[in-house]
Amino acid sequence: MNSTALVWDERYLWHHVGNGAGVLPEGGELIEPGDFGEESPHPRRRLRNLLEVSGLLDQLCLLKPRPASRDELTRVHTPSYVDRVAALARSGGGDAGGGTPFGANGYTIAALAGGGCLAAVDAVLAGTARNAYALVKPPGHHALADSGNGHCIFNNVALAAEHALAVHGLERMSILDWDVHWGNGTQELFFEDPRVQTISIHQADWYPRGGGLAGEVGRGPGVGSHLNVELPPGSGSGAYRAAFERVVGPALAQHRPDLVIVSCGYDASALDPSGRMMLTSEDFRLMTRWTMAYAEQWCDGRLLMVHEGGYAPAYVPFCGAAVIEELCGAREVIADPFLARLGGAGYADLQAHQSEAIERTLSAHSRL
Ligand SMILES: [Zn+2]
Repeated sequence: MNSTALVWDERYLWHHVGNGAGVLPEGGELIEPGDFGEESPHPRRRLRNLLEVSGLLDQLCLLKPRPASRDELTRVHTPSYVDRVAALARSGGGDAGGGTPFGANGYTIAALAGGGCLAAVDAVLAGTARNAYALVKPPGHHALADSGNGHCIFNNVALAAEHALAVHGLERMSILDWDVHWGNGTQELFFEDPRVQTISIHQADWYPRGGGLAGEVGRGPGVGSHLNVELPPGSGSGAYRAAFERVVGPALAQHRPDLVIVSCGYDASALDPSGRMMLTSEDFRLMTRWTMAYAEQWCDGRLLMVHEGGYAPAYVPFCGAAVIEELCGAREVIADPFLARLGGAGYADLQAHQSEAIERTLSAHSRL
């Protein structure tokens, strides 16, 4: 059995985030409203379209999401927060907190994103799919127990992990987050929990500012289960490879997860307007290949990838397709037309200051 499930629903693209411009929200005297706000639907829509026109979609098992119930949402979020989002949606929309605008459909679609991840966990753990890719929106990894943050309403990967613990009786999980932004919400939700290991590889001191430091290793019984790799801006293939070889591999070997979940953002790509990294589709392909090998080693290949950020509408589709091709063992590979320009760029190899940043994580986790 070698099937890959793809979670998808057209309504994910209907999540309304206002007419902002880049990182700026709608409004402001000098800002012309646009439809190219940071969390616009275009990158995901174009990824879904590329899957279709390339034929890759035909090699996947489509998995229709269901909405996560209030009980499922409150495994991760406080009841008052869940009810606040629902009430704001009923009134036409609002902000879930920390720059997370949404419209009248915000609660419904965010619950459908979370529920899509639960359906994916069910499919992977039941063995009806070997692995799964949840092409959901809104993203989730910044969302906190009692607040939205950075366009994230409900924390999709945390909902998936809690579901696997509560319903499927799993005991250990690892959440690897390679979105260019620090996975602050996921870390905070599990910071005292030794069962759910979190590993965030992100651009140092970028978003949210002031955290995601190598020295943040957990609280109480969670100490040692949480890792942060703070890569300097400008990191490329070499730095990410070193982070996997020196940190991710040994950390997973130590934790021995029953399931691996990836917060899969594409904003570390060389063309992203919201990150300052240098990755190409080939790097996302390799990171997926390495992660699959770890999952094979520790949990029979059980792997769930959840779409997070990525704001280059032209390039996210090729990076996402590379990830999905690896997951399903695609017969043919889509040629990335950007590679001729982006591949082999100067300074993509591991640089000394990047190596030192990775070593700081190792110093904070002396047992790795
Ligand atoms: Zn991001």
